[in-house]
Amino acid sequence: MKSTWKSIYSGIKAAVVDLDSIDSLLRQTVRSIALAYRADCLLWTVLEATPRLYASQGWWAALEQNAIASPLGAIDSASDVRLYETQTIPAWLTQHSQLHETAEGDLLVPIPQESSGEPLRFVLQIRRAVSPGWSKPELESIEIVCSQLEMAYSALFWRDRLEQSRAQAALVGRIARLLNSSLNPDEIVERIVAELGQGLHCDRCVLIDLRHDPVSVLAVWDGDSAIEPLESRQIDRSVWQEVIEMFLQAGASFLAFDLDSEPDPLQDWLRDIQAASVLLIPLFTQSEFFGAVALLEYGQTRTYQIDELQTIRQVADQAAIALTNAQHYQSLWFKQEALRLQNNSLQQEVIRDQLTHLLNRRSLERELSQLSARAVWTVQPAFSIIVCDIDYFKLVNDTHGHPIGDQVLHSVAARLQKQLRRETQAYRYGGEEFVVILTEATLEKAIDVAERLRQAICTTPISTSVGSIRVTASFGVAQQDSLGDRTAWDVLQRADRALYLAKRAGRDRVEALGQPC
Ligand code: GH3
Ligand code: MG
Ligand code: MG
Repeated sequence: MKSTWKSIYSGIKAAVVDLDSIDSLLRQTVRSIALAYRADCLLWTVLEATPRLYASQGWWAALEQNAIASPLGAIDSASDVRLYETQTIPAWLTQHSQLHETAEGDLLVPIPQESSGEPLRFVLQIRRAVSPGWSKPELESIEIVCSQLEMAYSALFWRDRLEQSRAQAALVGRIARLLNSSLNPDEIVERIVAELGQGLHCDRCVLIDLRHDPVSVLAVWDGDSAIEPLESRQIDRSVWQEVIEMFLQAGASFLAFDLDSEPDPLQDWLRDIQAASVLLIPLFTQSEFFGAVALLEYGQTRTYQIDELQTIRQVADQAAIALTNAQHYQSLWFKQEALRLQNNSLQQEVIRDQLTHLLNRRSLERELSQLSARAVWTVQPAFSIIVCDIDYFKLVNDTHGHPIGDQVLHSVAARLQKQLRRETQAYRYGGEEFVVILTEATLEKAIDVAERLRQAICTTPISTSVGSIRVTASFGVAQQDSLGDRTAWDVLQRADRALYLAKRAGRDRVEALGQPC
């Protein structure tokens, strides 16, 4: 009978040597036992959260008719071993710690973890039509097979875990390198959620800023293109209120929710976006609460292992550093940009306006989008925008001709830039309209600057080839409001409205609109 266990053992050994998956090891074992003993073989995995059964052909009808278990996934008609899942393990299955025969004549072989006793990992149930029962050598041979199976399972299991830890360590390493890269803040945050989503094989990974109402989704990574895209990046804060309290008051280090029927705003949101479960990890930047990383599952719910939670925690910490860095990065960007604008003569033609030599509208748009980066919109110090428009400029053209008008435009531009610091740029926004962006400036400070600019234009008449011409200009000022404004264009629009007010109030003056209405 020795040849029996040897014939099965070679399959088990091959599975380990070839580093097969655990699933194929279990299938192969069930198939070999059924063949070698001419029996119907059923392997119960009793330790799993949702127990599974590997069944050779003789068991299929009984399992399906009696609804003991349901097939897992689509049935592969070519396979001689089918996989089922069951909700409950029958008590009789795990009562004995030794191999024994049931009253129905089935052989039950309990397989403990790493042959060390409790708890059970598998139970093998073998049924054979031929009588009489099982011979002693057969039983010995089956016991050997089972202990080999357990050892092979452990080897593959730990190899998988090792592989997983390695992959997670590599993930943390990649994210650390990302922080030192020259990507902009939004790109870094996007990459972090992508790495996390990919590394942990989740369906969707999201970074949420939970500090304001509405809360905003800063970055989304979707692992599965079949998932409905997240339509709104703004979510009512009441959905998250309970989560925020659990993070801040109860000090939860993670929260996991499955979809259930409880009426609850977060559950409703999950249902709305058709997710099955979510894991939330809080994010703190320099000990201030920022938001959460959310890992969402769609098809079925998922429970994360401890080491996966640790990895996500580490990545969330890195994301927090990225967000803090983003703030510094932003100011660095403006310094570098200022240098670039001064130095690169080839680029000057592309980025500057020919007549006034101020930066052109395209350059303005570039700076506005940099200021609008989602990852820093709320963390950067508020900036202000000044819009300036020459009063009755059409009259200058009409009276003295277009070329003289050009000379006036050139001088006004020079006066504006002369009043500003080297790193602060004025832009030619349109015909006789100019824009100044003051980073890290409050409304009061911006009004002072605008007033200085106004005086620089009106106090001394401008010399032209037809003599001195006195011109004035009106100014509109607005300060960024990170909650009310969505982008820097919103701030510019408000400054424009303030300018309109200045014109209406009689021109040659500064008007400001602080808050978005
Ligand atoms: P307001 O006080 O309401 O601003 O009066 P305005 O006359 O300045 O108003 P409007 O905006 O209607 O006129 C702007 C004029 O600027 C019209 C246009 O011909 C002139 N303009 C635009 N670009 C140039 C340019 O490059 N050179 C010259 N010379 N004129 C220009
Ligand atoms: Mg105008
Ligand atoms: Mg004008």
